[in-house]
Amino acid sequence: MTSQIKDSTRAARLALTPARGGDAVHAGPVFVSTFHSPGDPVATEYSYGRSHQPTWTALERAIGELEVDAGNEPAGVRVFASGLSAVAAAFGAVLRAGEHVVVQAGCYFGVKQLLQELLAPSGVSVRIASGEELASPKTLAGARMVWLETPGNPELDIADVRAVVAAARQAGALVAVDNTTATPLGQRPLELGADLSVCSDSKAMCGHSDVLLGHVAVRDSELLQKIDRYRELTGGIAGPMEAWLALRSLATLPLRLERMSASALKVAEFLRSRDEVEHVLYPGLPTHPGHAVAAAQMRSFGPVLSFTLAGKQAAERFLSSAELITEATSFGGVTTTAERRARWGHDGVAPGFIRMSVGLEDAGDLIADMERALDGLGGVVR
Ligand SMILES: *Cc1c(COP(=O)(O)O)cnc(C)c1O
Repeated sequence: MTSQIKDSTRAARLALTPARGGDAVHAGPVFVSTFHSPGDPVATEYSYGRSHQPTWTALERAIGELEVDAGNEPAGVRVFASGLSAVAAAFGAVLRAGEHVVVQAGCYFGVKQLLQELLAPSGVSVRIASGEELASPKTLAGARMVWLETPGNPELDIADVRAVVAAARQAGALVAVDNTTATPLGQRPLELGADLSVCSDSKAMCGHSDVLLGHVAVRDSELLQKIDRYRELTGGIAGPMEAWLALRSLATLPLRLERMSASALKVAEFLRSRDEVEHVLYPGLPTHPGHAVAAAQMRSFGPVLSFTLAGKQAAERFLSSAELITEATSFGGVTTTAERRARWGHDGVAPGFIRMSVGLEDAGDLIADMERALDGLGGVVR
């Protein structure tokens, strides 16, 4: 039974407490800094709230289940105060001065800035490579870790996780995948052979634009100990309320992801049909250069797509006239959001480049709204 059980069934039951008469079916958040711990502290699971606490434990168990296929041994997970603190822990627990990390060029700007501004000056050597280069043992020679993000951000680059894992095995490097865009329900890096699966849970995982959180999942218990120790010593911990909101949100993740992915594909197909729109990037579109690899490693293509209008003015006019698109950064929430990405100045994309996260609205309503907004562009060409 357990090996055939579907993700939605698992997700709906993740937060259940043991069936003891009179107990709450789902536990609430535990607000605690210190625990009863008489005598030898090793004998109690919890002692002080910076080390471990029960709401994290419930969330970490739940995420550990979702990071693997049904029936497999759950992954070891540690949750953090944000996605970037989880990223910092993955680097900080593994990389030491004199070691070498190779990162995918198309990954989240914050990850590259963390490496360049903090890790490189403390002696970690950093090389940036394309998704294809990452699959070559030559690129990875001498590396301690390779960092990929697939789909990448904001251009939805696809890296072949199995191919990078094979090259990394030859080079003796650990493979870490930033799985934020897909979530563990959309793609399971550990099942594809990666050593670390890292996620900003602030995006589709929690999915309601109300929580900042992140996690690292691993199979190796020694690596888990290092991640745990890093968190304890640096104190970048999640609040119990955030952890509980995340746990509560996981039950609806399969539903949300299914709906958002189906609508994102419809929106991408619609945008492709319009003359005003160039370069529609969505891994679910057969025209996406990474589609075949994405289809082989992803379980669903996710809520994020991007496309390019003629220029800054056209993009701004489109975003302000579409009534069902909320102008905001980030992605993966229940509400459709989009932004002109070049306004931040760090992604190197065209002035008319828009990243969109498709939410839970009716896809037909979204498309009708975008149709009106595109029609209204009229003569705006730049
Ligand atoms: C948002 C994001 C992060 C950082 O996560 P925060 O929760 O904002 O700290 C890391 N990687 C990717 C791919 C992201 O989209």
